[in-house]
Amino acid sequence: MQDALFTPERRDIVERMTAAAVDFPRRSFDSDRDAAFPYENWEDLKRAGLLGICIPKEHGGLGGDFVAYALASEELGRHCATTGLTFNMHVATTLLVGQIADDMDLPDDVRATQHARREQLWHGVVNNHTIHSQPFSEGTAASATGGFATMAKKVDGGYLVTGRKIFASLSGAANVHNVVCISDADDQLHLMGVPADADGVEIEGGWDPLGMRGTDSRNLLMTDVFVPEGNEWIPPGMFEQAAWRWPYFYMTLSFSYLGLMRGILDYTSAYLRGEHGTSARRDNHIKQHGWADMQLTYDRAQALCYRVLGEASADPSRASLRRAWTSMVTTMQGAPELASKAIEIAGGRSMLRPSPLEQAYRDSRAGATMLPWSVEVCLDRLGRFDLYPESDRFNG
Ligand SMILES: Cc1cc2nc3c(=O)[nH]c(=O)nc-3n(C[C@H](O)[C@H](O)[C@H](O)COP(=O)(O)OP(=O)(O)OC[C@H]3O[C@@H](n4cnc5c(N)ncnc54)[C@H](O)[C@@H]3O)c2cc1C
Repeated sequence: MQDALFTPERRDIVERMTAAAVDFPRRSFDSDRDAAFPYENWEDLKRAGLLGICIPKEHGGLGGDFVAYALASEELGRHCATTGLTFNMHVATTLLVGQIADDMDLPDDVRATQHARREQLWHGVVNNHTIHSQPFSEGTAASATGGFATMAKKVDGGYLVTGRKIFASLSGAANVHNVVCISDADDQLHLMGVPADADGVEIEGGWDPLGMRGTDSRNLLMTDVFVPEGNEWIPPGMFEQAAWRWPYFYMTLSFSYLGLMRGILDYTSAYLRGEHGTSARRDNHIKQHGWADMQLTYDRAQALCYRVLGEASADPSRASLRRAWTSMVTTMQGAPELASKAIEIAGGRSMLRPSPLEQAYRDSRAGATMLPWSVEVCLDRLGRFDLYPESDRFNG
């Protein structure tokens, strides 16, 4: 499975990420302490061409697919999970307009418009290093396609968008905030690229969270913001079709947490070998037992995730979709479990800031809460799976 996933093209992309992220662990302390966006890391990602990781080569990108992104995101999360999470929001938009849109059923004329618009989006990313965010959450419903109160009023040449998004990661850094809203023209869901510098855009509130502090996920307030119709990246109705037919879209952020798990393992093994300023502790059998446990937790999460990556495509079977949910739960619960165990093994000094394990302990806690596929939502679906065949909308 591992060899099949790591094609030469994907391996190149992962290696590019490894090289770009070399300074990220060192910088992550400052970003975490100050709850500050990791701008320097993004400069390195830009220089490495990674903003275009999922943009076709003929349009200036690296030509990576969903799996290439997943593997590179895991590698990034290993170096800095916060940067990984922010990068996810950017790349998810390029995946949605690219590989995922290609797998959707769209009438020819609609597809032609979508192609023209996404080429604009790609051009902006590749040539102007445009950064995209994806603030979908409004805090009213857990569903992928429900609970949106943000409205888009149709006007000449575009829309006036009004609404409020919570947890808008990259709030101060993104050039374009891609928001889901309802249009008064057709009552359907639309995805609009709201220019960050447009009149009526405001970033609201403070940002002092437990973990993932560098994501700068403040609230995004929009009041009658003019969004040109060219910034409607996908046609009305496609968002729901994608949620239904390409649900793997909602697991993209778990790859950062899988990487975070790998980073915890890296640190703990070095600690046990005595490479972090204390004497080696590897001969202690209790610690060996804990270390064995940690590897089990990580390998379970990675093996399941890689299995899911091996079958990720449009229109998954019921069993494949079930595995995507179990993968989410295994990673998002596994990461805090692993961080907690690592602190037990590495002891009190590992809790003294700045400490990668202390930070990982806090960062990992956020994973379970990520909607629309939070751990509770996935468990809720798994708990009902196959029990109500007469009424199940199985990817609901
Ligand atoms: C660091 C960070 C960055 C984020 N970045 C972004 C971003 O860039 N874009 C974005 O769109 N969102 C982002 N989010 C938001 C995230 O996806 C969730 O929407 C948010 O964490 C939900 O918080 P809440 O307190 O409003 O949850 P609530 O909606 O109040 O839910 C509370 C709990 O109940 C569970 N729950 C709610 N409804 C159900 C249900 N029907 N069935 C089962 N369980 C349910 C939830 O999973 C959650 O655990 C981010 C969150 C964090 C912490």
